[in-house]
Amino acid sequence: MSKFIFITGGVVSSLGKGLASASLAMLLEQRGLTVRMLKLDPYLNVDAGTMNPYQHGEVYVTPDGGETDLDLGHYERFASGPLSRDSNVTTGQIYDAVIRRERQGGYDGACVQVVPHITDEIKSRVRKMCSPEVDVVLAEVGGTAGDIESLPFLEALRQMALEEGPGNVSFVHLTLLPFVRAAGELKTKPSQHSVQRLREIGIQPNMLMVRTEKAIDDDIRRKLSLHCNIAQDAVVEIKDVEHIYEVPLVLRRQRADDIVCNQLHLPGAAPELGVWEEMLHTLKNPEGRVTIAVVGKYAELPDAYKSIYEALTHGGIANRVRVHLKKILSDDVTPERVAEQFDDVDGVLVPGGFGERGINGKIVAAEYARTQKIPYFGICLGMQVQVVEFARNVLQLPAAHSSEFSPDGPEPIIHLMADQRVISQRGGTMRLGQYACDLLPGTKAHAAYGEERVAERHRHRFEFNPAYRVRCEANGMRFAGINPETGLIEISEIVDHPWMVGVQFHPEFQSKPVAAHPLFRDFVAAAVQHRKVQS
Ligand code: GLN
Repeated sequence: MSKFIFITGGVVSSLGKGLASASLAMLLEQRGLTVRMLKLDPYLNVDAGTMNPYQHGEVYVTPDGGETDLDLGHYERFASGPLSRDSNVTTGQIYDAVIRRERQGGYDGACVQVVPHITDEIKSRVRKMCSPEVDVVLAEVGGTAGDIESLPFLEALRQMALEEGPGNVSFVHLTLLPFVRAAGELKTKPSQHSVQRLREIGIQPNMLMVRTEKAIDDDIRRKLSLHCNIAQDAVVEIKDVEHIYEVPLVLRRQRADDIVCNQLHLPGAAPELGVWEEMLHTLKNPEGRVTIAVVGKYAELPDAYKSIYEALTHGGIANRVRVHLKKILSDDVTPERVAEQFDDVDGVLVPGGFGERGINGKIVAAEYARTQKIPYFGICLGMQVQVVEFARNVLQLPAAHSSEFSPDGPEPIIHLMADQRVISQRGGTMRLGQYACDLLPGTKAHAAYGEERVAERHRHRFEFNPAYRVRCEANGMRFAGINPETGLIEISEIVDHPWMVGVQFHPEFQSKPVAAHPLFRDFVAAAVQHRKVQS
């Protein structure tokens, strides 16, 4: 029988609930338990696919093509349980399912209500994660306790605790202890009130995790314990850390995993953390440093390219160097300024994107990287940009463009497939989720992966136009990866270049700190090489 851990948040948002959840899951896994994670998001959007990066950061894509919250990226980087579109449940999905069923007469004329119909639907989504081999289902609830939006979720979880019985459900609540400088004190009151909100709806947290910039003393621990009705050793401090990958060790030092396992009567061996600790040691003690320019239209937002930034860090760990990110707004890159902008740069990465803003700057960046032989990694739109630049400047087709930006242009080297729905059976007109990619021996991609066939995740509409393939190949571009079912081009490389690789997919979603994605590893390796030659 699967047990449940529910992680809620209080006081303010952005406390790193996703990281705390992922870290706890990782510790449980390292104790030999099988864990499934999911995120319950209290917004009305059906999925994150339509959400603005300004508000919501990147859209994380699961292998089955789910467009999900970026916290799932943390789950995948820290833990190893498989994720799917079912791993991100939103209020929009719940209401959509209930209203559809009502229209089909599925409620036999009953008055359809939040309790029990909405809450039943929520519970069934959480229980869908259970199976005989799953020891723990760990669900993170988005938002903060007390929000109107998250009430149906909390109510559903309260009911689950009742139904599953004592010892089968554990609630972890994450709050903030603000430090009031004038008083020189950490304040526990907001946490007390937040726990009170939970208790009003019938949830007594079993563990309190507190985010704080200063260490907590016994006094504060006692106070929190007393007022929140939580055992003192179950008050776990999460002080700000230098690297997010330290969080599991912070939890382990306070035996958070032991405490949860005791509550849930789960078998308890100490977690195996050797590989993780070694990774952290490498991260904290780099032997060198490279600077990678990331040229995107959301360069100023910390979360818009979250998985890419993390994957670059992983590439750094694999090469024992620190990757310094130079975030450049694509709008700012111009032919006049690019030499100065990229003066200190050892590699250029152009990430994915939609819409025309900044596209010219990205093309300038690709041209500069190609002609100056700076390692270049183009991801999705970054690959399309690489191809457009090549067509304009090498094939001498100045009008070449993607039909996303020039719908009736004469040289659509990136275009929409004639019958796109055939390819993207998984929804809408977007090619979403995991597709196979066959690698051409002798290419940089093949050297990186060391495999004949890989599978990578997609989220795009436009594709390389095969009408240009022969001309590209005759002029120094090679296509290192092809989708075996459709023949679609997945990877383009510049032959006469130290490392210029464009991929139509999103490799960043599969990179882990303890296992860097091979393309990110080799891109950073090429940057290290570039730096050596320069100095
Ligand atoms: N806008 C491009 C397309 O739809 C690239 C998408 C992306 O980078 N994810 O094909």
